Amino acid sequence: MDITKLHIKSIPGIGIKKAEIITKELGISSCEEMLYHIPYKYIDRSKIYKINQITSELPYIQIKAKIKELKSVGVGKSLRMTAIAYDETGILELIWFRGYKYLSAQINNNTDYLIFGQASVFNRKLNMVHPEIDVYNKNSTNLVGLQAVYPTTEKMKKAYINSKALSKIMASIFNVINPEYITETLPNDIVKTEGLIYRYKALYNIHFPESLEILDKAKYRLKFEELFYIQLNSLQEKYTRKLYFKGLKFSRIGENVNSFYRDHIPFELTEAQKRVIKEIRHDCGMGIQMNRLLQGDVGSGKTLVAVMTMLIALDNDYQSCLMAPTEILANQHLETITKLLEGMNIKVALLTGSTKKKDRQIIHEGLLNGDIKIIIGTHALLEDTVNFKNLGLSIIDEQHRFGVAQRARLWKKNIILPHILVMTATPIPRTLAMTLYGDLDISVIDELPPGRKPVTTYHAYENRKTEVFKFIEKELKLGHQAYIVYPMIFDSEKTDYMNLEKGLEEVEKYFSPLNYKIGMVHGKMKSVDKDIEMKRFVENDTQILVATTVIEVGVNISNASVMLIESTERFGLSQLHQLRGRVGRGADQSYCILMSSYKLSNEARTRIETMTSTNDGFKIAEVDMRLRGQGNIEGTQQSGIACNLKVANLAQDTKILHRANALANKILSEDAELNKPNNELLKYHINRLFKKLSWHYIS
Ligand code: ADP
Ligand code: MG
Repeated sequence: MDITKLHIKSIPGIGIKKAEIITKELGISSCEEMLYHIPYKYIDRSKIYKINQITSELPYIQIKAKIKELKSVGVGKSLRMTAIAYDETGILELIWFRGYKYLSAQINNNTDYLIFGQASVFNRKLNMVHPEIDVYNKNSTNLVGLQAVYPTTEKMKKAYINSKALSKIMASIFNVINPEYITETLPNDIVKTEGLIYRYKALYNIHFPESLEILDKAKYRLKFEELFYIQLNSLQEKYTRKLYFKGLKFSRIGENVNSFYRDHIPFELTEAQKRVIKEIRHDCGMGIQMNRLLQGDVGSGKTLVAVMTMLIALDNDYQSCLMAPTEILANQHLETITKLLEGMNIKVALLTGSTKKKDRQIIHEGLLNGDIKIIIGTHALLEDTVNFKNLGLSIIDEQHRFGVAQRARLWKKNIILPHILVMTATPIPRTLAMTLYGDLDISVIDELPPGRKPVTTYHAYENRKTEVFKFIEKELKLGHQAYIVYPMIFDSEKTDYMNLEKGLEEVEKYFSPLNYKIGMVHGKMKSVDKDIEMKRFVENDTQILVATTVIEVGVNISNASVMLIESTERFGLSQLHQLRGRVGRGADQSYCILMSSYKLSNEARTRIETMTSTNDGFKIAEVDMRLRGQGNIEGTQQSGIACNLKVANLAQDTKILHRANALANKILSEDAELNKPNNELLKYHINRLFKKLSWHYIS
């Protein structure tokens, strides 16, 4: 019996119809997949709490209490049902925002109830939202210990596949399948040395935990296994690449690097920049292709690292290319880099979608005959007509805008793969980076250049608009510029959020009479028009730029000193951080004002508090991951890995990840291809889990 092939519809008690719904809703068809539908919580039914023992830190618990004062409160959207639960030790407010239609028919004043739920604190009072309620019955309670609660969907619930039904299905699977068919996926010595429990025992206990203690062990085992295989897989890419992919050897440090360092570099490198350049130099000098991710917060000076790396390539007679996600950014890079290299006689060119045909031809030739040493551009660089004499280095800026496939196309521009440096300003927590980019080496610039004034961030409720506008006016009077950012473009009846068009009117009404010019960019504009508007702002033809998040990425306008973000509660943390990175790029003090309505969810409040209390992108990313879950972090969607984690949680399981990573490294350093007999099982599961599609060859 192979549980990876055994279809759930063959399990007694499911039936074809329900099996179909489960497949459609959860993407589950085999029994193995079903067993990996992991409960998201457990109700401890082994203990009945007293109300005065409850705190908001407890997990789902049950109390025995009577219920009184059931009533509906509020109107319209805020309509809800409340009641008071009480025992001899105290009272607890119960609240339902939905599903209360039949409640009053179910609840009597003098009955004892078992009430399940998780308590929370609101207005300093303890309450329980959407508690489950059963009539208390002496016989039924002490039978069950920990009860699993499963994620379901509305459609499943309609078909009576609720959490309890899923629990029955799990029981049925364990009934039908003998333990030996739920085979062990880790070699025995790993199970032993890592102190794990066996897979069967773990899977059984994740669904039907015999105690909290063994539940912990079951979770640990399954998380370890999950993270270990992901690590093993991505690290194997790295190890085999190092074994078999020859790389260019940049062994020389020569005239270009030296003269740049001596005569051209406008400032002392930060320690972080020095360290990263050293890492890169070491990597490029080994004769193994470099694949490095350079993480550095906005303004941390990645461009300079890129330039130094290109000069190393040049000293070894190789060309470099630098690809940016937008034309504006490519232009900006050209400008910066040309200026940095002034007087060095290095030919730098720009190739974008709007490069004229005639110029294009000249560039093509220059690349082919080796005249052009550094080419900067956009996606246009990927075209097949672009060929090099000797490309040695590809740098990709603002990495998450490009897919893996696009990266691969850049690499194919030389017979021996060029070194790759991917730069990103979207900091991601280290655990996530290890999981997503295990195949890449990671460098981090964790220090801003000296003298940079951190952006001061305020939160303001929207009734203080005029004050905020006055503040902006003051900055404009000093000759500075301002961004005003809105979450969406067109008015939507359903929401009362500020929108771009309405916002523009408001801004014009205040600022036009003061003779300030206002520009606007948004995502629905053609990119040429966007570029024109951006250019006007760059050149200070407009002093205020009203925009949506299209300005999020990389533009560097050091004269802009204020950013006002409207309806802040609608933005995610990483977005807010990216946006804020647009100001504070010059010598003057900059400001970011987060405007919001009074109605703030706890999460929105946390986001705003995080933004006003720190400028550290990595700290912000950690909070973001905690708030939103690993699958929703920007830059992870395309990878699929983090979203598909079934058991592990990267925000919490750092220690497990590090152990899994260490073990994977140890195994691969001795046997990169997993050919040794005792690694056979590992090889088998890697192939099974990841259907080895080598991304070196995607194009
Ligand atoms: P990012 O990492 O966001 O791409 P940039 O490379 O654009 O950052 O650098 C931001 C600004 O900091 C630029 O104006 C750059 O000239 C300046 N800068 C970079 N490195 C240093 C340094 N070591 N000392 C002082 N200023 C620096
Ligand atoms: Mg940059």
